[in-house]
Amino acid sequence: MQRIGLIGGMSWESTALYYRLANQLVAERLGGLHSADVVMRSIDFAVMEQLQSRGEWAEAGTMLAEVAVELEGAGAELLVLCTNTMHKVAATIEAAVDIPLVHVVDATAQAVRAAGTTSVGLLGTAFTMEDHFYRDRLISHGIDVIVPETDDRRVVHRVIYDELCRGILSESSRQQFQAIMGRLVDSGAAGIVLGCTEIELLVKQEDTDVPVFPTTRIHVSAAVDAALADVSATGR
Ligand code: GLU
Repeated sequence: MQRIGLIGGMSWESTALYYRLANQLVAERLGGLHSADVVMRSIDFAVMEQLQSRGEWAEAGTMLAEVAVELEGAGAELLVLCTNTMHKVAATIEAAVDIPLVHVVDATAQAVRAAGTTSVGLLGTAFTMEDHFYRDRLISHGIDVIVPETDDRRVVHRVIYDELCRGILSESSRQQFQAIMGRLVDSGAAGIVLGCTEIELLVKQEDTDVPVFPTTRIHVSAAVDAALADVSATGR
């Protein structure tokens, strides 16, 4: 089994889910007392949020690349960046290390295609919904992407930073997300990508009539697949 390096803390609420799911999936696949071989760095999200809001993406990329190098030095054999948004600087991280980064958009696109879906609504931070790095990569996999209207994007972004990243799960926000997903379906979305690692803490499959694609679960599953690619029945 390969050692998974988690670049976490963005936010820790979803990094905790990454850690739990990685262990659960390894136990499911190998049985017995098996658990994931993980090394993690969890950064101070306030520092990253300031870089994001000031648009200092180069600095953010350098900071995460340094974390990636530390994880590689600690024996990580593959990397998982536990946030959709920060995949905006994935190339900087990839360039700093010799081990592969399991890209969240590629893993998500594979899940969307496997479900036979070719048009999705995208929920995430404003950076994820509005910048090209995320949508264009989905489009490169042959998937049409619909993003919410301006007001709805504002709501989704605010709920992520003011509530979900602080561990607040509110029923009124869940209802707002239901309505936003309904409008995406009315606009032609045949599935909804929960393109922020905290959204699946709030929104479940039963909140919409179309398939949802929870990126944390999908991302961890892809990482565990990669980590177990060469594993024999003994788990070694
Ligand atoms: N975890 C979130 C994401 O998946 C947002 C936090 C961040 O900006 O990294 O995009």
